Amino acid sequence: MNDPVLRLSGIKKAYNAAKPTEVTVLRGIDLTVEPGEVVALVAPSGAGKSTLLHIAGLLDTPDTGTVEIAGVDMTGQSDRKRTGVRRRDVGFIYQFHHLLPEFSALENIVLPQLANGVGTADAQARATGLLDQVGIAHRASHRPAELSGGEQQRVAFCRALANAPRLLLADEPTGNLDPTTSDQVFGALMDLVRSTGLSAVIATHNLELAARMDRQIRLDAGLLVPV
Ligand code: ADP
Repeated sequence: MNDPVLRLSGIKKAYNAAKPTEVTVLRGIDLTVEPGEVVALVAPSGAGKSTLLHIAGLLDTPDTGTVEIAGVDMTGQSDRKRTGVRRRDVGFIYQFHHLLPEFSALENIVLPQLANGVGTADAQARATGLLDQVGIAHRASHRPAELSGGEQQRVAFCRALANAPRLLLADEPTGNLDPTTSDQVFGALMDLVRSTGLSAVIATHNLELAARMDRQIRLDAGLLVPV
């Protein structure tokens, strides 16, 4: 199977179409991400990164254009099919961790696996292994409020990878951290991604972090241009 993990073709998106408040965000996006490829998406705030990532991750639909995940065109698929592909094949990371506050780090990584039909013992073993990979196995029983910002994001990375997706979509994953922590936490993310052979699109303002990925693209006036 050598299909690209993600292929976007001719994606256009406007909000409030045909109203005075219309905002055209994406004007014809073409992007192919190969297996194992890590792409940096660089763009200033408001350029449409979140819109693009949400469309790529099947959380939103384009006005025109197609989204293919692992060779399957998702256009016109049922909500049930789209939800299934999103749960199984796509992992999301946001700037803020969005962990469930009343559950431990381990439980936050176990729960999405249980929702995907994995047994408790296997889910716990995988969660422990992931926490170990990002260097915080000793924090497994801590709740999010008892963790530092960097530790919270590491847990969020593990949760995103809990169901072994093919594609990781990350929106400013270290944007909320101080520069030193951001650097370390980004290193942990890249190690995790490389060790699993995952494909990723990682949005960042930080050009140093962007340079550590395989390829950089810039979102400029609704179109992607090479950096
Ligand atoms: P970024 O993630 O790069 O900051 P977004 O994708 O969040 O950008 O937003 C791109 C543009 O689209 C912004 O001008 C924003 O105000 C507008 N926008 C985003 N979501 C909506 C919405 N639901 N309704 C109207 N405008 C929106």
